[in-house]
Amino acid sequence: MRSEEVTGFGSVVWEGESIAYTVVYSSRRKSWAVEVKPDGCVIVRMPQHVPPEKVRKLVEEKAEWISTQVKKYRSRVEIVRNYMDGEILPFFGAEYPVVRKTGAVSKAEFLDDCFVITIPDSFDADAARDVSKDMVVLLFRRMGFSPLEEIIAHYAPLAGVEPPKLRIRLQERKWGCCTPKNGIIVNARVLLAPKIVAEYIVVHELAHLRYRHHQKSFWDEVERLMPNYREAEKILKTDGWRFVF
Ligand SMILES: [Zn+2]
Repeated sequence: MRSEEVTGFGSVVWEGESIAYTVVYSSRRKSWAVEVKPDGCVIVRMPQHVPPEKVRKLVEEKAEWISTQVKKYRSRVEIVRNYMDGEILPFFGAEYPVVRKTGAVSKAEFLDDCFVITIPDSFDADAARDVSKDMVVLLFRRMGFSPLEEIIAHYAPLAGVEPPKLRIRLQERKWGCCTPKNGIIVNARVLLAPKIVAEYIVVHELAHLRYRHHQKSFWDEVERLMPNYREAEKILKTDGWRFVF
């Protein structure tokens, strides 16, 4: 017999809204736990043989917290950039509006504190959005060089390393990484975050050039270079999902 199986569904009401949950019973479990998945599903993990009524009571006690989590994840799904006129794009801690133009060639430029995106008339909405995104990512990768190089120039001597070769790439998950030949790669998404985040990612990778692991000596070095690095980690943890093109 499997140790874990779904054997129940239920729902509770919180502030007029019904919250549905799935119950997973486990023979190995001694205590219960509730988890809200990023897609908004609520999973309740229970030891074997807890009657449904008891499960409901327990979930009810946690309904406020569950509802908050569900709402948090729901609001996440709503972040979509269309790169239309008036939309705001953050860059390195500041915010600038998008100005949309039509023209023969697709391009994105940074002019007079605006992101000016030019898209051919013939493009439908989806294509226009996709191309705008690609153009903006390219632009960010170009624009990101000088502020990131400045951070490198400041921290590399403090870290006692040669200033590494910087590359900026769009990546799904990793915020940064370093290459075996004294190079660092920074995720273009970092440029959508507050400055402290970019600073931390650079410091993290600079520290890796000497400490190629995540052991205590590495973290001691990060803290020595940037005593407030935890602040940046916290931002990444809670708001990292917002930094998307
Ligand atoms: Zn690392």
